[in-house]
Amino acid sequence: MADRYLNFTATAPGRFLTRRLGLPQPVKLRRWSPEHPRLEGDLLLLTTGGSRHTDDLVELLTGLGHPPATTSAHPAAVVLDATAVACVPDLTEVHTALHPVVRSIADNGRVVVLGTPPDPDDHHQAAAQQALEGFVRSLAKELGRGRTASLVRIPGPAATAASTLRFLLSPKSAYVTGQVIETGPDAAVRDPADWNRPLAGRTALVTGAARGIGEAVADVLVRDGAHVVLLDVPAAQHDLTRVADRLGGTALPLDITADDAVDRIVAALPTGGLDILVHNAGITRDRRLANMPRDRWNAVLDVNLAAVLTTTDTLLRTGVLRPGGRIVATSSIAGIAGNAGQTNYAASKAGIAGLTRSLAPRALAEHGVTMNAVAPGFIETKMTAAVPLLIREAGRRMNSLAQAGLPVDVAEATSWLATGGVNAQLIRICGQSLLGA
Ligand code: NAD
Repeated sequence: MADRYLNFTATAPGRFLTRRLGLPQPVKLRRWSPEHPRLEGDLLLLTTGGSRHTDDLVELLTGLGHPPATTSAHPAAVVLDATAVACVPDLTEVHTALHPVVRSIADNGRVVVLGTPPDPDDHHQAAAQQALEGFVRSLAKELGRGRTASLVRIPGPAATAASTLRFLLSPKSAYVTGQVIETGPDAAVRDPADWNRPLAGRTALVTGAARGIGEAVADVLVRDGAHVVLLDVPAAQHDLTRVADRLGGTALPLDITADDAVDRIVAALPTGGLDILVHNAGITRDRRLANMPRDRWNAVLDVNLAAVLTTTDTLLRTGVLRPGGRIVATSSIAGIAGNAGQTNYAASKAGIAGLTRSLAPRALAEHGVTMNAVAPGFIETKMTAAVPLLIREAGRRMNSLAQAGLPVDVAEATSWLATGGVNAQLIRICGQSLLGA
């Protein structure tokens, strides 16, 4: 559905009027396209002194096509290596490094601060590193003009941050801001032979793929080299077949809650094995709890959570999900913030976060499979087009980028997580929504 306000603010009278009235001034986000695959402009690498990662970072960023500069009048991205920050006085260097450059960062630019996980055995280091989180989340709210800021914690070697930095320092992460992401461990990292087709040779199953976010995920996984098996309810078969034919994939009309769902999935896999499992299918059955019959409660818990657990458990246990495999589940900011009328939906989506955090370390240790989750905010789909106008308008504006996300924003994050580099992370694709922030 067209965002008329965003289109209006892109015009000169729109800019004038919204500035005069103090209204939100979203800028059109510059997303990935074959013509614009990279951020355009300098990447500035700054350091808060004494980092052990500097040489590796220079090599890594050069490999991304952004050989770092030490000065730039108008940088497209600023990476601040704050991994050496170990006590509160060190934080002065964060101010010293970023204060002079923050104003000059280009529209749609990026700030990525690199830190290390807070150390439970060193409360001075923990205070200083945790301070970076509050700093980055606040900066993300200040930047405006489509510019984003995130914190990447690197517990091990800088090389574990390759896929994460590739994502954050590209137009693919346009709607991701104010996030804290931990890279590694080493076992979660798989650097593909060709970063232009990082999923080449991999088979992916996407549930709920007939439309919306699932269709966009299928598009991006295929762009990135995967073969896709696309699942959706039999009632959506027409749309599902259209998507599968367009992408050279396999259509699997199937209700994910069916008793024989896993058998049917395995039978549909071209080689019997699976590398990427995207749990995207989801439903809402909104009512306040006082008015909610048990069938509406159960339907949402069954599709959004129970079926995710059942299929994940079986595909892992049987080894169908091969070593090196990746699971990406779909949570929601409603599961983080809560939402009136969505006790069932929010419960199911919070359950996804719990499942991901608990299973991910064991899935990696026992099966060599990572598990992460995306938590979309307000994304323009049929689901959100059904939201009443005023609430829809509020949903679009109440985030640091003052606009809704697009299905492709969730899809880009999913493809990054399907490539590897992180485990047990819950990544919000929400423009730093005020809900649950
Ligand atoms: P959508 O309704 O457009 O698409 C969901 C798809 O899942 C549909 O094609 C539907 O047929 C399929 N599906 C539903 N039940 C199924 C079942 N039992 N078996 C197989 N397929 C089934 O929704 P969307 O907006 O694209 O959302 C995709 C996912 O993202 C959902 O999990 C949703 O909860 C989540 N999400 C969406 C938003 C948003 O703003 N759109 C925000 C947060 C989270």
